[in-house]
Amino acid sequence: MLRLFNTLTRTQEPFTPARENTVRMYACGPTVYARAHIGNFRTFVCLDVLRRALKYVAGHQMRMAVNYTDVDDKTINGAKAAGEPLREYTERWIVAFREDATALGLETPEETPRATDEANMQAMGALVQQLEHNGHTYRSDGSVYFRIASFETYGQLARLPQDGMQAGARVDVDEYAKDDARDFVLWKASKPGEPSWDVGVGPGRPGWHLECSAMALRLLGEAPIDIHAGGIDLIFPHHENEIAQSEGATGTPFARIWAHVEHLFVEGEKMSKSLGNVYALADIVSRGYRPSALRYLLLSSHYRKQLNFTWAGMDQAEESIRRIVGCLTRLDDVRPSEQGSLAEAVASARGRFRESIEDDLNTAAALGAVFDLVRDVNAAIDAGSVSVGDIQAVRALVAECDQVLGVIALRQAEDAMPPVPIAEIEAEIAARQAARGRRDFAEADRIRQDLLARGIVLEDNPTGTRWKRK
Ligand code: AMP
Ligand code: ZN
Repeated sequence: MLRLFNTLTRTQEPFTPARENTVRMYACGPTVYARAHIGNFRTFVCLDVLRRALKYVAGHQMRMAVNYTDVDDKTINGAKAAGEPLREYTERWIVAFREDATALGLETPEETPRATDEANMQAMGALVQQLEHNGHTYRSDGSVYFRIASFETYGQLARLPQDGMQAGARVDVDEYAKDDARDFVLWKASKPGEPSWDVGVGPGRPGWHLECSAMALRLLGEAPIDIHAGGIDLIFPHHENEIAQSEGATGTPFARIWAHVEHLFVEGEKMSKSLGNVYALADIVSRGYRPSALRYLLLSSHYRKQLNFTWAGMDQAEESIRRIVGCLTRLDDVRPSEQGSLAEAVASARGRFRESIEDDLNTAAALGAVFDLVRDVNAAIDAGSVSVGDIQAVRALVAECDQVLGVIALRQAEDAMPPVPIAEIEAEIAARQAARGRRDFAEADRIRQDLLARGIVLEDNPTGTRWKRK
């Protein structure tokens, strides 16, 4: 049975869904005001591995929601600076996020709500009204605040010192320091020049924390949901406030398991936009690395340990993928022997992979099992003791492990796709042909060199020009 570390209890717990066989899981999604960086993607890749482990190792069905935070201080300021309506501005960043998520092999969650979807806004209004009804709120200057003194267990997730609670003092911003536990804003009164909604609690807009509570409760059904997840920085104030809102409204525990992914660091510092040390997926690709190598790097160490990003680490990730793929390629050319030798190695790798994943997603140990198998397979090929049954068994096991890892299939898909779209290659070949026709050999050569730099080799022969991957 899969065991997961629960931030709420600070212990590892065996996990089964509360209702039937379906896991109801919510993960806080990106704030869509810029391209997500690879630190953000560490969290999303690790949560994708969790999702896959729940499906393919534990055998559950998933009902997962990952939201887009498309209204908050940052998105509003970004839209203003760009001179665009909020929803159009955030739409561009959502498209960019989906592009990167697909390139990194993330499975698409069942629900990807935007906070500003009409139904979600209505749910937020209803949630604030319920909290007002239950006596957890007060109003000031048209805004609605959550009174933390009204919620006895406030601070339980983050384990806040009780004497640090500043009841009566309040905060209007979405993010603040841990020693600043104050009443927080649920609904912000509308300000001139800001988008505003009227959903029964006065014109204004939601606070960030409210958005997630409302969307999780609306989309995943009756509380408690099974798993609520995000990066570790969200424990306080965001998740603490989500608990206060959701439980204050429903009177029922909000989530059974809270899962948090540790941060990605760069040279010892957390990767974050405010520190300016961010890389996006495109920056990694422009240095010649493939998304599959980044996915490998991001999932290769345990999700609850900090991970330091380095280019040497990217090289190692690439090397590791090549070792696995190289072994599979060798199997293609093997002359099978009568007698096999790998049945035991395959069974042991299967057992160790599964046990490691079940142990709070110990991906490092799980990969260790795969590499031990690769070593044994290579040795058996060298010794000429690989049977047809061995080949099938090894292939089946690697595919099974890759359902969780999602790296090898991604690499194979990358290999099948040329680095430049085919239509573009063909247009360039035609342009080069035309340049040669007018004896502009410099231009023709520039086109050839340009494609070569992008990984496409042109070969001229009597019947025309053909292209292939470098
Ligand atoms: P944001 O777009 O800032 O709301 O963040 C989206 C997700 O990325 C959240 O779950 C954050 O906790 C997570 N996150 C932000 N920075 C990092 C980082 N350096 N490493 C891992 N996860 C991060
Ligand atoms: Zn959230």
